[in-house]
Parts: sequence; structure tokens; C-alpha cells
Amino acid sequence: MLNGQLEKMEEFDQPAYRIAMAYFDSAARLMHLDPNLYERFKTPQRALIVSVPIRRQDDRVQVFRGYRVQHNSALGPFKGGIRYHPGVNLGEVAALAMWMTWKCALVGLPFGGAKGGIRCDPDTLSRAELQRLTRRYTSEIFPIIGPDKDIPAPDIGTNEQIMAWMMDTYSQHVGYAIPGVVTGKPISIGGSMGREDATGRGLAFTILEAMRHLSISASGSTAVIQGFGNVGKHAARILSGYGIRIVGVGDAKGCLLHEGGFDISRLLNYTAREGTVIGFPEGESLSPAALITQPCTVLIPAAVSGMINLENAAQLQCRILAEGANLATDFEADAILNDRGVFVIPDILANAGGVIVSYFEWVQDLQNYFWKEKEIQDRLAEVMTGTFAHVLSRSLSEKTEMRMTALMIAIEKLATAHLARGLYP
Ligand code: NAD
Repeated sequence: MLNGQLEKMEEFDQPAYRIAMAYFDSAARLMHLDPNLYERFKTPQRALIVSVPIRRQDDRVQVFRGYRVQHNSALGPFKGGIRYHPGVNLGEVAALAMWMTWKCALVGLPFGGAKGGIRCDPDTLSRAELQRLTRRYTSEIFPIIGPDKDIPAPDIGTNEQIMAWMMDTYSQHVGYAIPGVVTGKPISIGGSMGREDATGRGLAFTILEAMRHLSISASGSTAVIQGFGNVGKHAARILSGYGIRIVGVGDAKGCLLHEGGFDISRLLNYTAREGTVIGFPEGESLSPAALITQPCTVLIPAAVSGMINLENAAQLQCRILAEGANLATDFEADAILNDRGVFVIPDILANAGGVIVSYFEWVQDLQNYFWKEKEIQDRLAEVMTGTFAHVLSRSLSEKTEMRMTALMIAIEKLATAHLARGLYP
């Protein structure tokens, strides 16, 4: 249905899926994608919905809803994060699974896209409850994951401890240790050096490349970061190391502005202790809407999808938008940014550092041979800057925005693989 009309797919019809489909539809039309391939790419290969019962602290049994969606495996095993968040739903997980397919294809990893999640608020669960939830969820999705099938990783609300419990549960089922079933694990059980900050580091590389292209010097530049979790805090640390002043930060609890620039190591110590930026003695608090529209060189949405939308796109005052969060920008808002000349580093490029080092972790686990941190950072830099240069040069020569160019490169790679493999049976 390459007619520009978005077909309603009831199972997946959620805001994030609508954003993903609008972008995919637009790229497919622009590149004249074969309609047979379009039909195959628009929905996931497999979607599993599971019930995850756990015993709560007060002895009651509560049943949570969990998902694992596998979008496409033409290029290799499925790969994608696990999200613990109250907003998790089938459509969002399906959209993010498709996005993983494009991201892996764009940066040249031999993976297909997947995503998973549990609809829950991890902040309201004790450590023991989180462990039970994770172990039961892993058991429920056990038949479709594995180091050769589908390899989960952390995302919003999950971390290396959750990955350790997933790895242990999977290994207990099989009978021996299988580190390669998840990435983003602790180093002590087969995790990789450099995985923890890989997404923030990769994001910083693309921002520095964009500044070079636009002839903007890092010193004297400013950044505003929405979302101060894994992606946001490491991006802040690495960018401030290049002399970029971090003038605004925000998380789910509130936002802070400090025009002189935050002392990032102090802020990191504070957030590690308090779990939020709120209460930090530097800067003044402001609304989430005001944070997004602060004047700055680089705006980094690093929280949830759709935070750049019709309500704020015309008011953004950044020169560069670097999408740490997946599907950070609504389809309609993207057109406004393009008209206003904001240089967009699209999500599938900007935040690919995490899955790139996840790939390095998986390779190390399969080989039982571990690399040094410097080697990992150098290889990450090579893939990120190489992909950025490729997308930029095609974007300039074809006069197409960075986002559509990146998507078209990814879709072309998948199309080539599909045509080579043919249709079974
Ligand atoms: P995280 O859970 O570590 O941090 C999320 C942050 O966003 C927290 O500070 C949280 O308070 C904040 N937040 C949540 N809802 C918010 C809201 N409505 N407004 C403002 N702040 C809000 O998650 P993360 O791993 O840093 O992931 C952030 C984003 O980056 C997600 O979109 C994720 O898909 C994407 N991403 C993460 C990785 C990775 O390696 N972790 C890789 C690629 C993309």
C-alpha cells in the first residue's frame, strides 16, 4: 500500500508504531521500494505476548504483561533491548523492533531487529520482585531467544543487573553458562569493556562530526539533554570533556537550567546517589516544555519517543538535534525541523553506539576472547564516523535529509538480502 495512506493495523496501532510507519512509508515511497518487499517489512516476523506472574512482597500474585517482537532476521539473529516502563505496549515494542532492523542494517551489523518489554513501573518494585519478574519473563520468552536466535540488551528501566538475571535464567534452563544470550551484562560474566557508555559515546561522536560539517567549534557550544539515564548521562560526560557546556538537563521528575554550564562530575555523583537531577544545588528548575525550547547548539532527547512534536517543533532553538531516544521526533514535527534548517542526526544513526558495542560483546562471548577498552572505543569510533560520513555524503549528493537518507540506506541493504535469499517456501 504505497499510496501514502496509513493502513490501520489494529494489533500494533499505537503512537510509536504510527510514527515508525509514517517514516517507513515515506522512505519506501522515495526509494520506490518493491511493493512485495514493502508488504514483508511493514509488519514484524513474529510477536509474542506473555503473562508474567510474580509474588509481591505482601504475598499477593500480580500478573504483568510482557512482549518480545522480532521484526526481521534476513541479515542475522534478532537483536534488541528490553524495556521496563508503564507505557510499554505491543505497538510500541513492534515499532522499536522495526527500528532495530534499520539501525543494524545501517551500521552494517549482521543482526535483525527485535525489542521486548514488560508493562510495569520498575521504581515501585523491590529488588527481589524485579529479579522474580525478570526470571519469569525470561522463562516465558525462552523458546524464541538464544545466542543464535535473538539476543536481548538493556533499554529504558533495565540495566546490567537485569541482563545478569536473564543470562543466569537462560543458562539454568540449558544447563551451562551461555553468556552470548544477552549483551550489556556485567564484565564479570562476559560483558564487554565500553558497553556501559557506548550509546552516549557514539552519540557524542556523531555530534562532533555534525559540528565539523557545520563549522561549529565544540568550545563555546552548548547542549541541552532531556533524559539523564544511561544515554543522557554518558553523553553529558563525554561532550563536556570536549568543552561543550551542558546548560540544561531533565529527567522524569523535573528539569534544571544552568546557563554557565553544570559541573558534570558533581551532577553525575548527585544523580547516582539521588536517582534524579532534582535538588542538585546548581541551576534553577524549569518546565519540561521550557527545557526543550532552550537556546542551545545541540538538543539531545534521550528519554522516550515522540518528545519532539507539533507542540514544540516550531519553538526549538537548537542548531543540531541529536536523537538519543528512538523515534524521538514525530513525523509531522520532522517536516517543521527540516523547513527550519535544524540539522537532524536521526536516531538510527545517533544512538547506534549501543548496539555496535553489543555486537562486539556478542562476538567476544562467542569467541571466549575479550578485547581491551581502547580497542572497543577505536572500533566504535570507526563505525560511527564511517556511517555518519556515508549518510552525510549521500544526503548532500541526493539533496535528501539525513533521516530519509539513513532509512533508505538501511532499507536497501535489507531489500538486497531478501532478494538474495528469496521467499520460502
Ligand atoms: P534509562 O532508563 O537509563 O534513562 C531514561 C531517562 O529518561 C531517565 O532519566 C528518566 O527519568 C528519563 N525519562 C523517562 N520519561 C521521561 C519523560 N517523560 N520526560 C523526561 N525524562 C524522562 O534509559 P536509557 O537506556 O538511557 O534510554 C533512553 C533512550 O535511549 C530510550 O529511548 C532508548 O530506547 C534509547 N536508547 C538506549 C540505548 C542504550 O544502550 N541504553 C541504546 C539506543 C537507544
